[in-house]
Amino acid sequence: MYKSPLSLFFFLIIGTVLHAQEEKTCATTEVYLEALKKHPEILAEQQKLEQFTAHFQNDQNHQRLAGGSTAYVIPVVFHIIHNYGQENISDAQVYDAIRVMNEDYSKGNPDTTLIAPSFLGIAADCQIEFRLANKDPQGNCTNGIDRVVSPLTMGGDDDAKLNPWPYQHYLNIWVINSFSPSMSGAAAYAYYPGTAFPTNVDGIISLYSYVGSIGASNPTRSRVLSHEVGHYLNLAHVWGSTNQPGVACGDDGVFDTPETKGWTSCMINGSRCNPPVIENVQNYMEYSYCGVMFTAGQKVRMHAALNSSVGARSSLWTLVNLSATGTDGSATQVCIPNTDFEADIISVCAGNTVHFQDICWNGDPTSWSWSFPGGTPSTSSDSMPAIVYNTSGTYDVTLSSSNSAGTSTFSYSIHPGYRSSINDYSFQ
Ligand SMILES: [Zn+2]
Repeated sequence: MYKSPLSLFFFLIIGTVLHAQEEKTCATTEVYLEALKKHPEILAEQQKLEQFTAHFQNDQNHQRLAGGSTAYVIPVVFHIIHNYGQENISDAQVYDAIRVMNEDYSKGNPDTTLIAPSFLGIAADCQIEFRLANKDPQGNCTNGIDRVVSPLTMGGDDDAKLNPWPYQHYLNIWVINSFSPSMSGAAAYAYYPGTAFPTNVDGIISLYSYVGSIGASNPTRSRVLSHEVGHYLNLAHVWGSTNQPGVACGDDGVFDTPETKGWTSCMINGSRCNPPVIENVQNYMEYSYCGVMFTAGQKVRMHAALNSSVGARSSLWTLVNLSATGTDGSATQVCIPNTDFEADIISVCAGNTVHFQDICWNGDPTSWSWSFPGGTPSTSSDSMPAIVYNTSGTYDVTLSSSNSAGTSTFSYSIHPGYRSSINDYSFQ
């Protein structure tokens, strides 16, 4: 059947819209309203921050960067809450997420070329930089990626925010497999400054499939963390603090973002509230999934949040804190690997081969020393050894992994032929 170029064009547009609508949204508003119900005192903190922000916006000397820095540097830790499934995303995926966040907050994203002409003049270099921590709260070496084994990765919410690092010193980002049923439509959520109770749940929590642009995520979803950091730094959705785009024209308290109903599709140059005023569909704080910019007004508002004591964002970027968290730009060190491994033992019968794989974290090993009493061979220095067990039973497996910084050891008992009681192995 003949298709005119015009109908093909519309098909492509509709395809884009449908694709955008398939993506999950953000539960920040729901979580905030819930917190407000339980802790109405939050409102006073927020009003304090609003007053500070209003003053800050009128203060010509509001640039308060530390020691000649060109950006507010925020130490970040990712906590990967996993049960040995797909949610145990690679270091590379986390590094890619940091890359995307840094591009978006420095206006270094290559797709600034797509910004609608009416917003080119106010698209901002937000002068905010994210660095993975190189020191944990005890001063130990870290690559900024913490891995915690827990079934709470499934159906998670604030309860899955395990091993929080002090919120005054780190931006905590937790990564989980799935949200609890009440938030099943969410990709992620964050807390506005001063609204997290208890304070150690402050930060961001995201599905593993919305972190960075590679691995389990993709480029379309890679801007979700930039959106959530916006909330963390006191930005509302462009249409206001609701989770219902497309319902009513609203405002976000930012002077240069036009009033809008909010967009779930990428109608660049869209104008529904005050035609012909064009709305900022491509803002990261929209639901359009085509965000490419923050505005100058949003930048000032985020800087205000970073200078206010509300929510303790002001203690993140101090020189003292950058030094304490190892994010002051001094040489990064090699950390001792934290040894862990997995095996494909789900369907192995006696006499079959079990394949093991090192999944060490925090430092890349350069050598491996395995011990397989009862297996053949009984030792290995391979990173992915294959071991035969001739009779059924319970066998200890020990791995020591090393690099130039040192060695760590992990032992575990396996039961050939049975799924482990702890590890739901996904390794094939
Ligand atoms: Zn949001």
